[in-house]
Amino acid sequence: MGKTRTLALALLAAITPLWPAGAEVPKVMASIQPIHSLVAAVMQGVGTPGLVVTGTQSEHTYALKPSDARALAAARVVVLVDENYETFLAKPLKGRDKLDVIALADLPGAHVLPTRKGGIWESDEDHHAHEAGGHDGHHHGAMDGHLWLDPANARLLVAAVADRLGELDPEHAETYQANADTTILKLSGLDMQVQAKLYPVMDKPFVVFHDAYQYFERRYNLSAAGSITVDPDRPPSVKRMAALRDRLKSLGSACVFREPQFPLRWSIPWRNRPARARACSIPRAPTSPPVRTTISS
Ligand SMILES: [Zn+2]
Repeated sequence: MGKTRTLALALLAAITPLWPAGAEVPKVMASIQPIHSLVAAVMQGVGTPGLVVTGTQSEHTYALKPSDARALAAARVVVLVDENYETFLAKPLKGRDKLDVIALADLPGAHVLPTRKGGIWESDEDHHAHEAGGHDGHHHGAMDGHLWLDPANARLLVAAVADRLGELDPEHAETYQANADTTILKLSGLDMQVQAKLYPVMDKPFVVFHDAYQYFERRYNLSAAGSITVDPDRPPSVKRMAALRDRLKSLGSACVFREPQFPLRWSIPWRNRPARARACSIPRAPTSPPVRTTISS
């Protein structure tokens, strides 16, 4: 190697650390698909966020993989609903410095509802015993964690992510902001479309697999009549299944929704529904293309 080249390499090595830190796009991880699609929209044209819970898996039953832990360790920003909701993130986020955590539930102005109790949502005695004993898998604590199903919450997150990324990466701040503006407009348009579509069926009763749609029901004044399971990480009790069957009989032509990411054997009331009840399915349909847990930016 010639002397000039060696000198050039030495010079390059010397000046590299002087380049502004803002030139690098922050590595971002999103907890679950709906959060990921919002973050990906903000980062469009700049980078791609990584995703922890991929495919058809449920955040309620998710166990962190070593590849997730590595991706999280490399992240500069992690976006989630709340550590009490995506409980699998509590440990990897603990005690990390130089990490920005954006939690939707903590944003000023976020619409947060308590977990639904009483009436049809609380007819499983098992649930009381289970709750009293304490458990660690999911969100059925004080707060209902399915916040993104209220479009106002989704818009709030988009704005917060754009602001934070703009601070960390000023070079792309304008793009983040423009993307956020477009996404917020799209969400508002979608909100109006959904409102118009659901208006005629506002009074139609339906039963869902797990109590995940409170924000959506409130937003569009829907008439949910109950859930198959109280805890999304355990199958419903025999007693609850019998109670649900009675309830479905009394409701007549209600729709019963199952969620394919949960085992079919947990959805016995869906399969053994009364003749007039209709079987429906809520597929997991990510609005962003399938992504791997690794970060590329
Ligand atoms: Zn849920």
